[in-house]
This record gives sequence, C-alpha cells and structure tokens, in this order.
Amino acid sequence: MTVHSKCYMQCHRCTRVWSQSRLRAGIHRMTESNNNDHLVKSDDSQHPANLIPELCKKFWTLGWVTGTGGGASIRDDDLVYLAPSGVQKELMKPEDIYVLELSKQLDPKQRIYLRSPPSLKPSQCTPLFIAAFTKRGAGCCIHTHSQWAVLVTLLLESQSNKNLFEINNIEQIKGFGKGYQKQGALGYHDTLRIPVIENTPHEEDLTESLEVAMDKYPDTYAVLVRRHGVYVWGETVHKAKTQCESLDYLFQLAVEMKKLGLPWLSDIA
Ligand SMILES: [Zn+2]
Repeated sequence: MTVHSKCYMQCHRCTRVWSQSRLRAGIHRMTESNNNDHLVKSDDSQHPANLIPELCKKFWTLGWVTGTGGGASIRDDDLVYLAPSGVQKELMKPEDIYVLELSKQLDPKQRIYLRSPPSLKPSQCTPLFIAAFTKRGAGCCIHTHSQWAVLVTLLLESQSNKNLFEINNIEQIKGFGKGYQKQGALGYHDTLRIPVIENTPHEEDLTESLEVAMDKYPDTYAVLVRRHGVYVWGETVHKAKTQCESLDYLFQLAVEMKKLGLPWLSDIA
C-alpha cells in the first residue's frame, strides 16, 4: 500500500489507512488477518505485547499509572508497541496494544498503525514515546503520573532555576547511565540533572518542548513535566524500568529532604 497516494486516507474510527473507495463504501471492517493481530499474539512472556500489560500492572500498584494516566511503549527494531489511551492500566491485555512501524511515520498528523485494537484510541503520549525512540534510540519509554515527580516540579516552581532538577551525593544516582552513546553509569558524587518542561492542556502538544529539552540536555534519560509527571527511557526495557524506579526513589527522597530543610546538592567530595 502506498500511503502517500491520494487514493488512500486514514479512517478516524479505526485510525488505519484504507483506500478511499473502501472507506466511502464503508467496507473496511477489520478482520484478524488485515489487522495484523498476529503481532500481539505470543506465548513469550518477554514479547512487547505481553510485557507492556505486565509492566503497567506493576506500575499501577506503585501509583504511577492511576486512573488510566501514564503508559509505556516498547520498540523492537522498527516495530513500536504502544499502550492505548483511556484503558485501566492494571487490566490491560495484549489485544489492547497498538503497533506501528517507526520508519513509516513520515507525517505526525497522519499516524499509520500496522495493528489497532478495534474499539480503543491511540495514546496522546505516542509522539513523545516516538521522540525517545528516534532522537535517543531508546528501546522502551515509560510515562508516569507519580505524585513524587509532580511534587518535585511543584517545589522547583518557586525557585530561580525552576526548569532543572539536580541532586548529587546519593547512592541511587548510580542507577543511571552516563548519557546517550556513553559507556558506564553515573557515580555517587556525580550530579543527576533532569530537565523540567511546562505542561500543556493536550499531552501531544508537549512533544516540541520535550524534544528541545532532549537537545539541551543530551545525556538525560528523563524529562519531568510540571504538575503532570515524568517521561523516562532507556536502551532496553530493563534499563528504562530500573531508571524509572531509581528516579522515583530520588524524587521521593528529594521531597522528604526539602521538608527537613536538607539541600539536594552538597559539596561532599
Ligand atoms: Zn500524562
């Protein structure tokens, strides 16, 4: 199918691209074969379509994806697997997962899905996940609405350097890589820096400022969104998950330190 051809367009209901004649005739009913349902069926527990619901179930227990907020996406080479919009994340199933080909996403306004769940909508987080895959070569991106992340952005709001969270001399900082295309992890004395961007009424409108923050802080593995949450990515699912956990630990610690009047940066060396 040539997606650039004027003969084809996207269906607003199922989000897939069909020939205009089929759309007009209303005969583009999804079948198992033309919806590529095989892409989300596997007995392998590590398959992205199985892993995303499993991870989201764990994240829900941590309060990261409460009330359908947040989400996760995994890239396997050129295939990207995405949690949908508006589902209860702890009840999500492999058949709820969207799949797209990264190299085919030439127009952000007309996203082309290889596989779409019949009665769900694509997540507004999709362009942000795609930014982590295309700009950083990430293998997994996690978005949480963690209260600790939100509180850190609120604490920063009244500070002069309100667009940057910094912390050093805490053991858990060693849970982060040194940065994009760099070997090794940060050390205990290193300063972890996470940029903060302002929230927007529609999540997809965060994409531009997220990309600007990635360019300004090329070694970051996360971007905080003020009064909203955090996006965290990694080269693998394992790295994205453990960095997300380490970050949440540090955010919680930072909130408690602030309550006790303790500084996030210290000059121990
Ligand atoms: Zn969100």
